[in-house]
Amino acid sequence: MSVDVLIAGGGNAALCAAICAARAGAHVRVVEAAPKAMRGGNTRHTRNCRVAHDAGNGILTGPYPVDEYMDDLLRVTDGNTDPELARLTLERSAEIWDFLEAQGVRFQPSLGGTLSLGRTNAFFLGGGRSMLNALCRMAEDLGVDLRYGTRVTGIEIEDGFFLSATTEAGWEGHAPVRERVPARAFVAASGGFEANIDWLREGWGDAAANFRIRGTPYNTGGVLRTMLDAGADRVGTVDQCHAVAVDGRAPQFDGGIVTRLDCVPFGIVVNRDGTRFHDEGEEFWPKRYAIWGRLVAAQPDQVGHVVIDAKPADLFMPSVFPPEVADTIEGLARKIGLDPAALRATVDAFNAACLPGRFDHTIHDDCRTEGLSPPKTHWARPITDPPFRAYTLRPGITFTYMGLRVNRDARVLFGGAPSPNIFAAGEIMAGNVLGQGYLAGIGMTIGTVFGRIAGTQAAGALRNARDGVAS
Ligand SMILES: Cc1cc2nc3c(=O)[nH]c(=O)nc-3n(C[C@H](O)[C@H](O)[C@H](O)COP(=O)(O)OP(=O)(O)OC[C@H]3O[C@@H](n4cnc5c(N)ncnc54)[C@H](O)[C@@H]3O)c2cc1C
Repeated sequence: MSVDVLIAGGGNAALCAAICAARAGAHVRVVEAAPKAMRGGNTRHTRNCRVAHDAGNGILTGPYPVDEYMDDLLRVTDGNTDPELARLTLERSAEIWDFLEAQGVRFQPSLGGTLSLGRTNAFFLGGGRSMLNALCRMAEDLGVDLRYGTRVTGIEIEDGFFLSATTEAGWEGHAPVRERVPARAFVAASGGFEANIDWLREGWGDAAANFRIRGTPYNTGGVLRTMLDAGADRVGTVDQCHAVAVDGRAPQFDGGIVTRLDCVPFGIVVNRDGTRFHDEGEEFWPKRYAIWGRLVAAQPDQVGHVVIDAKPADLFMPSVFPPEVADTIEGLARKIGLDPAALRATVDAFNAACLPGRFDHTIHDDCRTEGLSPPKTHWARPITDPPFRAYTLRPGITFTYMGLRVNRDARVLFGGAPSPNIFAAGEIMAGNVLGQGYLAGIGMTIGTVFGRIAGTQAAGALRNARDGVAS
């Protein structure tokens, strides 16, 4: 059967596009680079998406108007967003709950603990994997041809017009099967390039070698590179991304959310030289965790160590790997490979600078340092009570922002002109909305909104496609 709409990717953006294109009557083929057991890219690691709504609904605890959402986005991006596409994303986020529910996705109340998102974010019952399974099931029911272990390796584009793609089935094996797939429209939904260390090096230099990739190893940016080479317009810069501090023992790829460490506000963080480098108590952790990946990436050897004493042990989500533990600061330093005298001096200086206060981790309390650089502005308590604990931190990259510039129809721009039949959705175009910074849950929102638009528009583009698409 001929393919009307070819979609590269297998995550949320690709499946939303596939479902909408299929519902509009198109013959849709989805090629997912990962094998079936690993399908779903970074989507399978997710927990929630951020949705605008006028009132609580029994699960979402209260209203979250578009204007408030916009204010939040402008704050975290420092205005580095395309205002038209940003507003479109946030307005259409209000449709996501009903849309996903209609595809079989179910929601649950926000998990307690780390991030206070009960009002703003819809949590997927069973997490991202279960959400993804529902979308796959629906796509299959609608007749979408889902091919696993198949990647796009080349794209034939003429003056911004898609003619065909080359796909490789079984590309991880010894005898990949190549196919030229002509189609009337193409949707690029193949994620960012966060798993491509060489490409990350262009923005981060050799530091990139020490990054952990929190999600799928399959998001290597092949489709993005091919499209840029074919003249597609670029959005964003190569070093902009979402990155958090993860446990240094996290695997190179696919560690997911459990490797994140949430104890930074309760201790101090030192670098390889035993020196502090940022205010650990600047803000509540949900508002700051996403800056710590970049902070650690800027340190020598891209390493940090968070040091706490016995007091906050029950105040943060338990870590997946146990901490290093010692009865003395010097003993702890030896265990994590730091100079004991240097760590002792840093801890002593910190302890001496802590002003007496009333510790309360639920508010911006008055436990702060005085005369210390950098300061710790909240939750600063002397590190005095053994056992002392330490976790080694590495930058954990979640996803990259540089991608394809699109218009409000999700059409990819070539020299400023929208393509008649090439569309993009998800991480590969997230940089249109996220020039920098991050708002928890907006990654899935961008993918769902633009996936739906891309799929619907791609199906509509069939009517405009040139006669006699190359075969
Ligand atoms: C640990 C973690 C937790 C996260 N938690 C959240 C959260 O709770 N909420 C939120 O909003 N966001 C979260 N994100 C971000 C979120 O995962 C992404 O924004 C979202 O999944 C993007 O969807 P996507 O479909 O664009 O990309 P993906 O889901 O990554 O899908 C891209 C797909 O493209 C495939 N692919 C790559 N190259 C090719 C090729 N050449 N040919 C064919 N297929 C190809 C990949 O195999 C993959 O399946 C999280 C990310 C991580 C890593």
